[in-house]
Amino acid sequence: MQLKKLEIQGFKSFANKIEINFESGITGVVGPNGSGKSNISDSIRWVLGEQSAKTLRGSKMEDVIFSGAADRKPLGMAEVSITLDNSSETLPIDYSEVRITRRVYRSGDSEYFLNKSSCRLKDVRELLMDTGIGKDGYSIIGQGKIDEILSNKSEDRRQIFEEAAGIVKYKTRKDEAEKK
Ligand code: ATP
Ligand code: MG
Repeated sequence: MQLKKLEIQGFKSFANKIEINFESGITGVVGPNGSGKSNISDSIRWVLGEQSAKTLRGSKMEDVIFSGAADRKPLGMAEVSITLDNSSETLPIDYSEVRITRRVYRSGDSEYFLNKSSCRLKDVRELLMDTGIGKDGYSIIGQGKIDEILSNKSEDRRQIFEEAAGIVKYKTRKDEAEKK
């Protein structure tokens, strides 16, 4: 499965709408310090459902909204969309292309969309479960992540293997059934 496109508007340093198209092969992002390279990977974590402001290098979720610059007023909303090629049907959904969108307002309200239809965070989570793509998946290896995996408790490491093995979905269903 391939990451096809990332659209960012009002997220962190990206006040204007930007669109990044990913071709097959490796994409490298280069730029001076503070130019927004890490903000791009933050935007991917965020659209996949990240709830921790700290993981996104902020102190509260509102910090992801463009906070203004010398020549530009702050914005009231941040929106990120990620488009994944699903022609291999890795994601259990009947679309060959899947676009996930997340939007947040200063009030703190977050909205999610799957191929333009409003949905819940839970739907996004379930869709990505066992694919390695979700916010806790192994598709984003941040700085220090390898060390973390090596020094983690064995139960934490087990989660990574369970996601790779594709059984998180069944465990989650079992846990939910037991709660009822
Ligand atoms: P480095 O090479 O040092 O890792 P980088 O290219 O990864 O740099 P980022 O960390 O992505 O840079 O970007 C940091 C910039 O984003 C800072 O200038 C910071 O002011 C800006 N920034 C972060 N959050 C916001 C926000 N909410 N509104 C406006 N600008 C923001
Ligand atoms: Mg950086």
